[in-house]
Amino acid sequence: MPLLVTGSIGIDTVKTTFGVSENCLGGSAVYFSYAASFFSPVRFVGVIGPDCPFELAKIFEGKDVDLAGLEVRENSKTFRWSGTYHDDMDNRTTDYLELNVLAEAPPKVPEQFSDSNFIFLANTAPKLQLELLEQIKEPVFVAADTMNCWIENNLAHLKLLLKRINCLILNEDEARLLACEKNLIKAGKSIIGMGPKYVLIKKGQAGSLLYSADGEMFILPAYPVENVMDPTGAGDSFAGGFMGYLAQKRTTDSKSLKEAIAYGTVTASFTIEGFSLNGLSSITKNDIDSRFDELKKMTSF
Ligand code: AMP
Repeated sequence: MPLLVTGSIGIDTVKTTFGVSENCLGGSAVYFSYAASFFSPVRFVGVIGPDCPFELAKIFEGKDVDLAGLEVRENSKTFRWSGTYHDDMDNRTTDYLELNVLAEAPPKVPEQFSDSNFIFLANTAPKLQLELLEQIKEPVFVAADTMNCWIENNLAHLKLLLKRINCLILNEDEARLLACEKNLIKAGKSIIGMGPKYVLIKKGQAGSLLYSADGEMFILPAYPVENVMDPTGAGDSFAGGFMGYLAQKRTTDSKSLKEAIAYGTVTASFTIEGFSLNGLSSITKNDIDSRFDELKKMTSF
C-alpha cells in the first residue's frame, strides 16, 4: 500500500565523541524515507529553501522514493538543527534550531499522492502535520512522531493531532513530558487516552515498547551495536523500518506490528554506525534481514 511521509529536511551540525559533522544532510523525512525504502516505495512530501546545498534526487538515486512532493520555496530558508550528544550517546542537547520553512505553510500533497493509505507524519510542527493529513483522502494507518519542543510550545495542535492518528511514536522523555507522568507504563496509558490506538516509546539503547488501547504490551531490546558513531536519525530510521514493513505487508495486525518493531530496530542499528545517511547508504536489504534473524535469536527463550 502506498506509504507517504512528510517531515523535515535539515541542514544538521552534529557533535559526538567521534567528531563533528558540519552542515550535513539530515531531517526526519530524509532518514525515514531512506530507511522505509528498503521495504516499500515511499512518497516524499517536504519543503526546502533555495539555500539547500543537497540534491535530494541524487541522494535517493536508485531508491524507490518519489520526490514529486518536494517543494523548493523561493524567499524561504531550509530548516537547520544542531545537536551535541552526551557521552552515553543516548541523550543530546539541541544547540540551535532554526525552523525557517517549518514555521510557514505546509507543503502541498501532489494529487497523485492523495490516495496514500499508510502515512507517517515525521517530526515537524503539529499544525503542519494536521494540515498535511487533511489533504489525504482515505488514510488507513497514520503514525506520527513528535518531540519536546512541540510538546512544550504547540500542545494545542498536538492534542488535536493525537485524535486523528492511529499510532504515536516518541522517545521516553517526550512520553513523560506529554503525559506529565514519570512512570512509563502510566505515561503510555495516559497518551492512549489522548486518542491514538498505539503508543510506541523509544528508549535508545534500552529498546522500545508498544502499548495498545486493548491493553496489549510488547517490549524489544535494541540490536546491540558496539561502535555508535552518531545516533542522529535513529528514531526516524526506526519509524521508517516500522512503517515500511507494515506498508509492504499491507496489514497492522498484532504479529505484523511486532515484526515491524523488530525491523525498525535493526534498521536504526545501521543508521547509528555512521554520520548522516552513511550508515544506511552502505547496506542492502540482506544486511537488514541478517540482523533481524540475529535479533530474533537473541530475544527468544
Ligand atoms: P532523530 O535523531 O531520529 O530524533 O532525528 C534527528 C533529525 O531530526 C535531525 O536530522 C534533525 O534535522 C531533525 N530534527 C531535529 N529537531 C527537529 C524538529 N524540532 N522538527 C523537525 N525535525 C527535527
